Amino acid sequence: MSRKIYDLFVIGGGINGCGIARDAVGRGYSVALAEMNDFASGTSSGATKLIHGGLRYLEHYEFRLVRESLMEREVLWATAPHIIRPMRFVLPYHKGGIRPAWLIRLGLFVYDHLGGRKLLPPTKVLDMRRDPAGKPLKAIFTKAFEYSDGWVDDARMVVLNARDAADRGALIMPRTKVVAARRKNDLWSIETVDTASGQQSSFQARMLVNAAGPWVDQVIHSAIGQNEAQHVRLVQGSHIVVRKKFDDPRAYFFQNPDNRIIFAIPYEQDFTLIGTTDRDYLADPKDVRITEEETTYLCNAANEYFKEPIVADDIVWTYSAVRPLFDDGASKAQEATRDYVLIVEGNGASAPLLNVFGGKLTTYRRLAEHALEKIATAIGPKGAPWTAKGRLPGGDFAATGYEAQVGDLKGRYPFLANRHARRLVRCYGTKAAALLGQAKNTEDLGHCFGGDLYEIEVRYLIEHEWARHADDVLWRRTKEGLRLTKEQAGLLEEYIAALPAQMAG
Ligand SMILES: Cc1cc2nc3c(=O)[nH]c(=O)nc-3n(C[C@H](O)[C@H](O)[C@H](O)COP(=O)(O)OP(=O)(O)OC[C@H]3O[C@@H](n4cnc5c(N)ncnc54)[C@H](O)[C@@H]3O)c2cc1C
Repeated sequence: MSRKIYDLFVIGGGINGCGIARDAVGRGYSVALAEMNDFASGTSSGATKLIHGGLRYLEHYEFRLVRESLMEREVLWATAPHIIRPMRFVLPYHKGGIRPAWLIRLGLFVYDHLGGRKLLPPTKVLDMRRDPAGKPLKAIFTKAFEYSDGWVDDARMVVLNARDAADRGALIMPRTKVVAARRKNDLWSIETVDTASGQQSSFQARMLVNAAGPWVDQVIHSAIGQNEAQHVRLVQGSHIVVRKKFDDPRAYFFQNPDNRIIFAIPYEQDFTLIGTTDRDYLADPKDVRITEEETTYLCNAANEYFKEPIVADDIVWTYSAVRPLFDDGASKAQEATRDYVLIVEGNGASAPLLNVFGGKLTTYRRLAEHALEKIATAIGPKGAPWTAKGRLPGGDFAATGYEAQVGDLKGRYPFLANRHARRLVRCYGTKAAALLGQAKNTEDLGHCFGGDLYEIEVRYLIEHEWARHADDVLWRRTKEGLRLTKEQAGLLEEYIAALPAQMAG
C-alpha cells in the first residue's frame, strides 16, 4: 500500500485521462494514473485522426462544440507541430447531390468565421476539371469546395501527454487495472492489479477521476460499486486502409446518400485511410472489430466518387473503435451529441468523483481545463491554466517548422534516408536527435525489424514511452505495422520479451 495520499487518481490512459493528469500535475496537484492496457489502446487510437471543428456537427446545431473545436485547431497545432499538421479537405458536389451548394457554402462560411483561424487558409472553390484533385474522381464532380482542418497522430498525442505528465511528477502506470475504488470518509481507497504480473497495490486519493472512455459505466458499476448508471452510448466506428488511391496531399470529404459523410485521407505516405461508420454497439468494447457490412459500406461509399473502384482485396488494414458518447436520447447513432459532459458526485464529507463522458481528440485539452475547474471546486484550487502554451515533448519548434526540422536532422545524421528522417520528425519532433544519439551510420541504428524500424527506435520506445509489446510499437507509437510482415512482427515481439525488465523507463 502506497502511504502517499494523492490529490487525484485518474482511471484511464486514453486522451482524456492523460490530458487531465498532465494539466493537473502541471498546476501542482499530486496525480496518479492507471491504464489497464497500453496507452491509447481503447478509443484513442481508433479515430479518423482529425483535429477538426466538425463541419457535420453544424447540421446538429452543436455550435458550442464546433466553436471550441475550431479554436483548438491552431492551439493544438502550435503545441505539437510534429504530430499535428494542417490538412486541406476537398468536398466535391454535383447538381442533385445530397446538400445544395448554397448550404455547403453557408456551412463553410460559418466554419471559416466562428473563430480561431489565423494561419489556416480559408475555403475556396475548385474547378475539378482543371484541379489535380479532380483526377481520381468520376467526371460528374466538376466542382468542389476546399477547406482547412488538421491531422493528428492520435495514439502519439496520448503517450506524449502521459510522458509529459510523468516528467512533471505524476505517477503513470500502464497495464494497471483499477479493480475497486471505495470511499473511506473523505478519501478514496483504490485497489489495482498489475495485468502482467498479477501484483495487487492500494492507493489513497482525495478525488477520483473516471476517464475510462467506453468503460466509464463499467467502472461506476463494478469498481466503484454504484447503482445502475447508464450514461454512455457506445457507437462503433470503423476504418479501412488501402494502398494509395491518389497522389494529392489533400483529403476528400464525401457525402453519402444516407446523409452520413466519410473521409478518404492520404495516410502514412503509401496508403489511403477511408472512414468512418456509425452503429450502436452493445458488446464489450475490447472485442470491437470491423464487420463485413461496414467494409462493404465504406467501399461502396468511396466508389460513388472514385473512378477506380475499391474492392475488399485492396484493403491492407482495418481498425475499429467505440465512441463513448453521452447518451442524450438521440434516435440515430450519428445524431448523438459529440460534446462532452463532466459530472461530479460527492462533496464535503464524502470524497468527490468526476465522471467523464464523451469528448473528441480535438477538445481533450479544453475538456481537461473544464475538468480542472470542477476539481478546483471539489478539492481546492492550485495553479492557473497553462496547457494552451505548454508544448508536448518534442513539439518545441515553430508550427510551420516541420521542413526545417527535417533539414536539421538530415544535416546532423546525413546517412538517414529522406522518408526515414521525415517519419522520425513526425513522430518525435526535436526528440528525434535524442533517439538517434551518437549514431554515425546505418549500422549504428542496430537491427532493422522491417520498414525503417531499427533497434535504436524500439529501445527508445521501451525506455521513454512504456512500450512492452510489438503491437505497442507497431500500431500505437508508430504505424510501422503497415510495413512489417507477420513474421517480422513476431521477431520484434521476441526481441522485446528478451530485453531485461530494468530497461523500462
Ligand atoms: C471511429 C471514431 C472516429 C473518431 N474520429 C475522431 C476525429 O477524427 N477527431 C476527434 O477529435 N475525435 C475523434 N473521435 C473521438 C475520440 O477518438 C474519442 O472521443 C476519444 O479518443 C475518447 O478518449 P477517452 O480517453 O475518453 O477514451 P479511451 O481512449 O477509450 O480511454 C479510456 C481508457 O480507459 C482504460 N480503462 C478502462 N477501464 C479501466 C480500469 N478499470 N482500470 C484502468 N484503466 C481502464 C481503457 O483501457 C482505455 O484505454 C473518434 C472516435 C471514433 C470511435
